[in-house]
Amino acid sequence: MDLKSLIRDIPDFPQPGILFRDITTLLRDPEGLRYTIDSMAERCTDLSVDYIIGMESRGFIFGAPLAYKLDAGFIPVRKPGKLPAPVHSVEYELEYGTDKLEIHRDAAEPPARILIVDDVIATGGTAAATAKLVEQTGCELAGFGFIIELTGLEGRKKLPDVPVVTLVEY
Ligand code: 5GP
Repeated sequence: MDLKSLIRDIPDFPQPGILFRDITTLLRDPEGLRYTIDSMAERCTDLSVDYIIGMESRGFIFGAPLAYKLDAGFIPVRKPGKLPAPVHSVEYELEYGTDKLEIHRDAAEPPARILIVDDVIATGGTAAATAKLVEQTGCELAGFGFIIELTGLEGRKKLPDVPVVTLVEY
């Protein structure tokens, strides 16, 4: 299936000069959605994961059905102040300033294996920060899964040396 034909390009969003890859058009397509989750699951099944981490908020959309499909649990990584129980947190650099992500301290325990899932890897900052959260839990990072990779930004270079599965590349 041609997933690119279901992904919409939006110029100048959220800022002038950025070409945003809009996945809402993929999500609303029943066959496209099924194909996306099934292909990702097929390519991640050998990683034997116990948990999938999805980052707020589009990582939730793909992470939860993927967890279901892989017989794994789902763990949300959220923006600061959203999780109710004690958290590990990590600060990371944005183009202007910094941001923070959090995970529940008791979300996972070693020797669990974790797959980090998001819709897009761009600069890799979000995924690299999430990998640091996995490190704080003491669990093993099994790999990363992204629906879309923006290869020109070389985000992979920021990631630890584990398998990276992507379905669509721009
Ligand atoms: P990074 O930290 O790799 O620079 O950016 C990745 C994060 O920004 C992801 O959480 C992703 O949802 C969001 N993102 C960046 N660019 C795009 C884009 O073109 N389309 C979508 N859907 N999300 C994007």
